[in-house]
Amino acid sequence: GKQVLHAKHYGIRREQLHSAALKVCDRLQDAGFEAYIVGGAVRDLVLGKSPKDFDVATNATPEQVRHVFHRSRIIGKRFRIVHVPFYDRDGEEIIEVTTFRGASDAPTDESGRILRDNVYGTIEEDASRRDFTVNALYYDPNQEVIIDFHHGVSDLESRKLAMIGDPVKRYHEDPVRMLRAIRLATKLDLTIAPATLAPIAQHARLLENIPSARLFDEMMKLLLSGRAWDCLTALRANALHKPLFPLLDKLVSQHETAAFLKKALDNTDARIRDDKPVSAGFMFATLLWHEVEALWQKKKAAGEHAVPALVDAMNDVEAKVTRRLAIPNRYGAAMKEIWLLQPRFEQRVGQRPFRLLEQQRFRAAYDFLELRAECGLADKELAEWWRKFQFADEATRSSLIAAVP
Ligand code: ATP
Ligand code: MG
Repeated sequence: GKQVLHAKHYGIRREQLHSAALKVCDRLQDAGFEAYIVGGAVRDLVLGKSPKDFDVATNATPEQVRHVFHRSRIIGKRFRIVHVPFYDRDGEEIIEVTTFRGASDAPTDESGRILRDNVYGTIEEDASRRDFTVNALYYDPNQEVIIDFHHGVSDLESRKLAMIGDPVKRYHEDPVRMLRAIRLATKLDLTIAPATLAPIAQHARLLENIPSARLFDEMMKLLLSGRAWDCLTALRANALHKPLFPLLDKLVSQHETAAFLKKALDNTDARIRDDKPVSAGFMFATLLWHEVEALWQKKKAAGEHAVPALVDAMNDVEAKVTRRLAIPNRYGAAMKEIWLLQPRFEQRVGQRPFRLLEQQRFRAAYDFLELRAECGLADKELAEWWRKFQFADEATRSSLIAAVP
């Protein structure tokens, strides 16, 4: 049943919201519509975390929202939403505004997957269409109340992640909800309710029907969750990595490659904690290196020259992986440059080390080499030489080159 809770009880104040989110709610309400902050932002506020983005739910249709905000635009087909852009000192902030979804049955394919979801309804119906109870909270910043139809607040208090409705049916409607369960539970330290957790492993194959671009987006969210290694471990514990990233089994089964991956992901987590940028190209370079390297060695053993063998190995692995995970070209290019520079670290004669230093991706490639060396996957002496070489003055550089064994 519906509960209306005082937000102040949970330490939530209007001032914690970004002004853009407040403006959207205020202006929609002034125009006579209902408008609430919804989803992850309310969940994070109740947990005492500061939300990174704000979504708004309203009973105004996308066209009516467009009418209130002249610079907004309607996006999406399968699921139409409105983006309202705001500009301030920090650049652009986009508030996503969604119209309440109705409970009437959305069209599905033969596996029960929802194809389109553009039937509008009431706030109560909208709440039932959301995934987890903790994600179905509506905060009205003017009344300062939280509207909670599915005991989401009490689930948050007992740190429970539970699907709304029948989990099996909800996973059929959208299999990505299984990935969201693993990611949100790991990231927020919630325990997945038994009925929500139990069906996941048996339904992992449903993910095979999901477009590779969407799987890539979800994989990025897992890797950027701040708990990347734990997320991958939890994926594997529930057999969800198979349709997504089956190479994970091989990676974690060997001590060195597991250590390599864990170190790389722990670095990523630390950078996210410190609000530093992370390179997706670097992350995918570490995730796929083992496979590339194995194939590279095989091709070299078959008589191919080192560099063309590496290029072939890279392309083979990329082609195989992108069938499941569509790695966008901007990341794929960085990933491949990092790999291609690896054999060049071994060429330490004449002008070659100087030319390598000038490469745009030298820094990333060197970090990659260092990580390999730390885990016994590259020569420690080589990494050490390059550490010295890059920071040395000209005279020292020459003597370093002269001293190469
Ligand atoms: P994050 O902190 O990662 O942003 P989030 O829960 O806010 O987590 P979003 O992808 O931003 O995730 O989604 C916003 C809201 O939309 C969710 O809180 C949930 O209510 C709803 N939602 C998102 N994806 C689904 C889905 N696959 N099925 C049902 N509801 C969903
Ligand atoms: Mg969100």
